[in-house]
Amino acid sequence: MQIEEYIDGFIRECRKHNLRVTPQRTAIYKNLAGSKNHPSADELFQAVRQEFPNISYDTVNRTLLTFSRIGLINLVEGHSTPRRFDPDLDNHHHFHCQQCGRIIDFTNSDYDDLEIPDSLRRRFDVTSSRVVLRGVCRKCSRNKFKFTKIKTKLKRR
Ligand SMILES: [Zn+2]
Ligand SMILES: [Zn+2]
Repeated sequence: MQIEEYIDGFIRECRKHNLRVTPQRTAIYKNLAGSKNHPSADELFQAVRQEFPNISYDTVNRTLLTFSRIGLINLVEGHSTPRRFDPDLDNHHHFHCQQCGRIIDFTNSDYDDLEIPDSLRRRFDVTSSRVVLRGVCRKCSRNKFKFTKIKTKLKRR
């Protein structure tokens, strides 16, 4: 989706939920929607304050929580702090790198069609599902490899 379409959707959703479309709110949303790395409130605060030097961290954080409450964005799953936010409401899955903290989107049709077992259906009304894979991303595993190579070189001397 183009950023303009995102903004149109943003304005529509705000109106629907009686949330005033202020330049600050729009800037917060725009920065999040334009980012692919599931930023934290602090990262968004750093970005938005370039444009609005008087905005506080608290305002940014509260705004993000309001956005997620009305379903405009998603909170990334997991209990790690800081909280991370996701502008992409389309069905997708996540890979969490446990080394660099990157959260990488991926799509997979098998995961999209994940069958919810009857035993769970009886206990819960499942409205959505997301597969979360955890591990080490290529970038980090390459760095680790480089590091062990240096270490063995040093040992040999
Ligand atoms: Zn990584
Ligand atoms: Zn995502």
